[in-house]
Amino acid sequence: VANPHDGGHLADVAEARATDVDRAVAAARSAFPAWSATAAAERGRLLLRLADAVEAHAEELAVLESSDTGHPIRDSTRLDVPRTAATFRYFGGMADKVEGSVVPVEAGFLNYVLRPPVGVVGQIVPWNFPLMFCSWKMGPALAAGNTVVLKPAELTPLSSLRMAELMAEVGFPPGVVNVVPGYGHTAGAHLAAHPGVQKVSFTGSTEVGRRIVQASAGNLKRLQLELGGKGANVVFADADLEAAVNGSAFAIFHNQGQACIAGARLLLEEPIAAEFQERFLALATSIRLGDPLDPATEMGPLTSPEHRDRVLSYVKVARDEGGEVLCGGRAPEDPALARGCYVEPTVVRADDPSCRVNREEVFGPFVTIGTFSGERQALELANAVDYGLGGGLWTRDLARAHRVAG
Ligand code: NAD
Repeated sequence: VANPHDGGHLADVAEARATDVDRAVAAARSAFPAWSATAAAERGRLLLRLADAVEAHAEELAVLESSDTGHPIRDSTRLDVPRTAATFRYFGGMADKVEGSVVPVEAGFLNYVLRPPVGVVGQIVPWNFPLMFCSWKMGPALAAGNTVVLKPAELTPLSSLRMAELMAEVGFPPGVVNVVPGYGHTAGAHLAAHPGVQKVSFTGSTEVGRRIVQASAGNLKRLQLELGGKGANVVFADADLEAAVNGSAFAIFHNQGQACIAGARLLLEEPIAAEFQERFLALATSIRLGDPLDPATEMGPLTSPEHRDRVLSYVKVARDEGGEVLCGGRAPEDPALARGCYVEPTVVRADDPSCRVNREEVFGPFVTIGTFSGERQALELANAVDYGLGGGLWTRDLARAHRVAG
């Protein structure tokens, strides 16, 4: 595992292959009967203890996450770690509140709905928020009485391996939680197709999502897919401009833009477009890039050299299609960052909704700016992509806010 800040060696992690996944699934299957029969309140109590353990190890987990992913330490400290604890706590509280229902049917029949666990849940996650993914994926599955096999992304396995240790320490029985660090095409594909797995919860790219669907066909697994996005961020002329500029910068530059719901397409209503753009560029060029472990750092490196190169390749795509690079579009000049996977905050003027930079997910600190006139055109542009994952809008008109959001 390499440090994205300087390419340094962080750790060696064993690579799980098919036989290791088989062993993990077998362990999860044998742990399932006892775990699913454990009182729901007891399962919840373990999750609550885990939340406490995450808080007790907050600093260690934040440093691990920042070293592995490149998240600025101030974000890992104030967002990733507390949210991980909060999510485990939330599902700890929910464990004994998973209720069924009774369906009123004709006399003489009793018709009821139960919500039993499904068995072994395979969980395959990307590299952008690995620690929080543990809680988002494992929290609900374990609360409901399932056992889990989680495959972290090959680039960022460290925090989920540490979480597995903490889960053993707080008393989760052996086999209930399994973490198999490995590659997608081997460990991931084997888990997705495994006949001993009843459900797969996947977060990642749309392309791999399609493969997960195909792999599920063998035993007709249940699936949960959270895939890519190309979020529009629409600023109406009546918006609070200061809030909109700050919020829009957070929407695309937080976590170096490596977020499925990033505000990747900034759509500005014409009367405020020039002023907004000027203020937004001033903010974008003032963001402090640096070592993720430095508390002053506002933006860290991308997670891998390959991903940095992919993000930078979109700068040429933008130019070839007539886009204008307003700032960034390159690695920073600071020699201290030369060995890291850094990309300057990049803002591209690209008005044509059909150009690639307005349609394809870049997944980096890369935002396009276009303009619109009126609500109708804003909606047309916002919806002019295949993705439908997330979006944002800025206005002081509450009726419009609800109308457009809908
Ligand atoms: P990815 O799809 O390449 O990888 C995600 C996971 O799938 C990794 O663990 C990988 O090893 C595994 N994988 C790869 N090939 C596989 C295969 N054939 N079978 C089974 N598993 C396989 O995605 P990524 O590049 O790691 O992450 C970025 C993507 O994730 C972006 O598209 C982003 O939008 C998406 N994402 C979505 C959400 C959401 O909630 N909707 C959240 C975060 C990220």
